[in-house]
Amino acid sequence: MTMLRIATLIAAAPLGTAALAQTADAPAAPETVVLKAAHVFDSTGTALKEGATVVVRGDRIVAVGTAAPPAGARVIDLGDATLLPGFIDAHTHLTDQFDKDYYHGFYNRTMRFPAEQAMYAAMYARRTLEAGFTTVRNVGAEDFIDVGLRNGINAGVTEGPRMLTAVHGIGSPGGHFDNYAFPPDRVKPWGPIEGICSGPEECREAVRYQMKWGADVIKIAASGGVLSESDPVDVPQLTPEELTAIISEAHKWNRKVAAHCHGDTAARLAIAAGVDSIEHGSFLSEDTLKLMKAKGVYLVPTRMAVYWVSKMADTYPPKIAAKARAAAAAHGNMFKTALRVGVPIALGTDAGVYPHGMNGMEFGLMTELGMSPAAALLAGTRDAAKLLGVEGEVGTLEAGKAADIVAVPGNVLNDIHGTEHPVFVMHLGHVVVNKSGS
Ligand SMILES: [Zn+2]
Repeated sequence: MTMLRIATLIAAAPLGTAALAQTADAPAAPETVVLKAAHVFDSTGTALKEGATVVVRGDRIVAVGTAAPPAGARVIDLGDATLLPGFIDAHTHLTDQFDKDYYHGFYNRTMRFPAEQAMYAAMYARRTLEAGFTTVRNVGAEDFIDVGLRNGINAGVTEGPRMLTAVHGIGSPGGHFDNYAFPPDRVKPWGPIEGICSGPEECREAVRYQMKWGADVIKIAASGGVLSESDPVDVPQLTPEELTAIISEAHKWNRKVAAHCHGDTAARLAIAAGVDSIEHGSFLSEDTLKLMKAKGVYLVPTRMAVYWVSKMADTYPPKIAAKARAAAAAHGNMFKTALRVGVPIALGTDAGVYPHGMNGMEFGLMTELGMSPAAALLAGTRDAAKLLGVEGEVGTLEAGKAADIVAVPGNVLNDIHGTEHPVFVMHLGHVVVNKSGS
């Protein structure tokens, strides 16, 4: 029922109309909710707090600690669970999802109308939120579906995580972000509007267009990629002049730049031009990782994408399968070196390469390679918030921050896989998932 229809019914009601009008004029104070669980990991450090509560009023956290909860508050008792800040995924593609049959999926997605694809995007966004991911950075989409989805979520039209979005990823003709190599008279070649550019001036134009349409972050293809057919996976795809034009233009608007990058040389060029994060990073050398640490450039490792493309390699076209295997073979050692060097790491998964909603597996995949559970949790909360520039709003459980809160079963430091099955999800004070029965 529309709001207009409700308003008509209220106006037509013979009794109680005045009382309803009064209620509408002076809305009741927001409800206070007390969240109780055996453990709290608030992401301000690496330790668990025992017996603490998180108090929420409206869309804000108002207290975290062991003080007596305010009288009259609604209590949600989650039992033997761990309360954490809502998870953050710094690398998603919410508007899309690869099919288990590569060409079948490609055909389907190409045939869909943008409005039709937007329906899928809304479903993927909801799944992501239900998986405990209350904030995402969406790094590349087609047909402006990402902007529409973000605006729709912000307007309350559909339910999904807080989204920072990149509009079209920016890259070179024939590179990882370009359309498939169809004959140009059959499929219109892409230009700066779609993020495809040659030379610094055209690349600057491409950035300006994405920001005009609402990009919160700029995404570039610094090197080749796995799931594109024509390009080698590791070679640079933007020149130093193009990188400088893109990154300086984005930084003028206070937009960060995330570089899709597998190759080491490409990463060095992007870092020299001032990039803010390297995504994937399969072939990064120890020297490059040290440079990233020195400059505060984040690594967004996307272990989930590595896991998924390795698992699916046999089903991909042969050229893509070969690239998937080569990148996966190198990535594990790179990640271990990154841990040893101490590069800042933000959790990112490349959701859409694998089915949306499995994002929480990233925590376990990072700990399998030696990251501590607490460090993995920080990468997916506080540290990702810093990379996204939203640390004033989310990333920790602290008074004044947005009420984006997750609970996972048991003691999360003993079982990191609990992050794959949240029992409670709250986004901006609204309960999205509650399996506690209270
Ligand atoms: Zn990606």
